[in-house]
Amino acid sequence: MATDACSIDSKTTSKDPELVSKSSRPEGTIVYVNGIPIGGREIVIMAGPCAVESEEQLNQTARSVRAGGASILRGGAFKPRTSPYSFQGLGKEGLEMLQRAREITGMAVVSEVMDTRQVETVASYADMLQIGSRNMQNFPLLKEAGLTSKPILLKRGMMATIDEYLHAAEYLLSQGNTQVVLCERGIRTFESSTRFTLDLNAIPVLKQRTHLPVIVDPSHGTGIRSLVPTMAKASIAAGADGLLMEVHYRPEEALCDGSQSLFPEEFGLMMEDLKKIAMAVGRSIHVL
Ligand code: PEP
Ligand code: MN
Repeated sequence: MATDACSIDSKTTSKDPELVSKSSRPEGTIVYVNGIPIGGREIVIMAGPCAVESEEQLNQTARSVRAGGASILRGGAFKPRTSPYSFQGLGKEGLEMLQRAREITGMAVVSEVMDTRQVETVASYADMLQIGSRNMQNFPLLKEAGLTSKPILLKRGMMATIDEYLHAAEYLLSQGNTQVVLCERGIRTFESSTRFTLDLNAIPVLKQRTHLPVIVDPSHGTGIRSLVPTMAKASIAAGADGLLMEVHYRPEEALCDGSQSLFPEEFGLMMEDLKKIAMAVGRSIHVL
């Protein structure tokens, strides 16, 4: 095989870790979250607040995103905050609220796990475990989560290369959990106009190199509400299998990431556009 360092293809087969490598499953993997297929023809929308704050906040937001066409409800109960003095999440109480929101709306639920000691608890409430950007290379956490039978949403580290990202995913698969979805959520660059730089290149690069589904988080990827719909559309056009987005029933009152959270009405309008983009690339949005 050629060893041309400029070619992505030449980098592919020899160096990518075995279990995540595209060559090990060229047909691609479909990950099922409570029966919702991610990685097939349908695009799956995950939406909800950054953090679970109260029963009312969660349920109202959940109802509106479900009405707009989301099928998986997001919401952090354990929050990785830059400052130890910021709202850290409601913990188990938040997980109980997510469980009730699932019963009310029929949506599946994804929530973050930050620590090996939380894995069992989060796994007993959520339908999908989220491993956040800051923990992408928390190897003990990856090993512990990889031992569960829950699907895992592994977000890209904000300073991780694609190689490092694929190796992190390999940790999960090497423990026996093959139900892994990757999520591009923006990387650190010199650019300061946006919170992060959403690396849309990562979508086709990952699609070429791994069989795992790839979704995009344009909320953290931009950090700016008004940019989210545009980058959501771009992500679908570039081949993403789904989107993860922050929506809050009252973003101005949010305890976390309000400025990048969509108003419910904006979410609904954006979804109309996303349906058209999906159709243009031969796909459709999954509906519950
Ligand atoms: C989140 O999705 O709630 C989150 C904290 O994102 P990230 O880990 O990508 O910063
Ligand atoms: Mn957030």
